Amino acid sequence: MTDEKNLLDIDNHHLWHPYSAMHSGMPVYPVVSAHGVRLTLADGRELIDGMASWWCVIHGYNHPQINQALKDQIDQMSHVMFGGLTHPPAVELARKLVEITPEPLQTVFFSDSGSVAVEVAMKMAIQYWYAKGQKERQHFLTVRSGYHGDTFGAMSVCDPVTGMHGLFSQVLCQQFFVEAPSCRFGEVCREEDIAPMTQRLEQHQQEIAAVILEPIVQGAGGMRFYSAEYLTRLRRLCDHYDVLLILDEIATGFGRTGKLFACEHANIAPDIMCVGKALTGGYMTLAATLTTEEVSNTMSHGAPGVFMHGPTFMANPLACTAALTSIRLLLESSWQQNIQRIESGLEQGLTPCRKFAQVQEVRVLGAIGVVELKMPVDMKAITEKFVAAGVWVRPFGKLVYLMPPFIISNTELQQLTSAVTSILADA
Ligand SMILES: *Cc1c(COP(=O)(O)O)cnc(C)c1O
Repeated sequence: MTDEKNLLDIDNHHLWHPYSAMHSGMPVYPVVSAHGVRLTLADGRELIDGMASWWCVIHGYNHPQINQALKDQIDQMSHVMFGGLTHPPAVELARKLVEITPEPLQTVFFSDSGSVAVEVAMKMAIQYWYAKGQKERQHFLTVRSGYHGDTFGAMSVCDPVTGMHGLFSQVLCQQFFVEAPSCRFGEVCREEDIAPMTQRLEQHQQEIAAVILEPIVQGAGGMRFYSAEYLTRLRRLCDHYDVLLILDEIATGFGRTGKLFACEHANIAPDIMCVGKALTGGYMTLAATLTTEEVSNTMSHGAPGVFMHGPTFMANPLACTAALTSIRLLLESSWQQNIQRIESGLEQGLTPCRKFAQVQEVRVLGAIGVVELKMPVDMKAITEKFVAAGVWVRPFGKLVYLMPPFIISNTELQQLTSAVTSILADA
């Protein structure tokens, strides 16, 4: 056994963490186990998890039913290639996803991470138009403040500034950007809110394969919640200009915003949809790209005749089993009421922050609570304070936000929000 000091030493010398530098002096906390909403640190301290491990762990850690399903699946088979072979976990999960997503989405492509699901969506859109003989449609139109992942295609449609990918701009495909939707969630979408989209589509329709964006909630690009009517109007525009609509539901999918998928707030269906993150309840890495029969049939019947993508670990049986079990657990629960309960808890618990001088805005939607500050936080100092208060919260920039596991109790939720409130009151 590596003792804690040794472990941190090796970590510090040899391990990259997300968006980190080596030898940065930023603390990392060793976790030895996790149950329900609690992480147990190596020194025995327990933290209430306010992040659900980045949107994923909706049913909490170490869920008995997901654990059991995975143990059973391990005894059947952990993995088998998906080229020329198939298996029940993949088939059942695909059927389930087709059943619960908007009706026109009928086919499922599995991959290993959200970023790759976005790459797949973009390749599908280009290949769809290629098969239809419109080979110049190789570009994408998106909104600022978006986040779609860290691979090259995905990076090209992230916000050019907050997307943190500026240094790669020379090698990134040049895409079309319009300003982020200015109409907030719950507000109407006026003509001038959607006008930049209309103009770009009017000017560049012949070069655009698809519009891509996150529905309702812009996640890592700024935690902004925008008008459902914007999406409804955008769907109409895409139909009018004959451009595909890709919705990235990787953060919003599986109930987080109060609907199973965020596009349901707008009563629309995309032509291509990406899911990931909470798909497996946070157990394994798995993502999927769903599309319509129109898109998949066109791709399959036109040149080059096959879709040019195929990950080694495609449809991994363990990951598919975790996903299937997680989706069943979600659908069997009264998740809508539960999300409403969390929404009111966040609303109530974060309200005191509204009057703090350094707070710009507090906003809550579904099981997402955001405190936007006027200045970026001191990450090291604030993280230490959160850990000392017994909670795990990981802000970025000016944003302190909570998206707890759905199983969090009212008392635990209150502990989370009062930690945020008291630490921000002090700052
Ligand atoms: C996290 C995220 C991704 C990228 O997913 P990874 O699994 O980290 O590759 C893409 N789109 C959105 C909206 C996300 O939140």
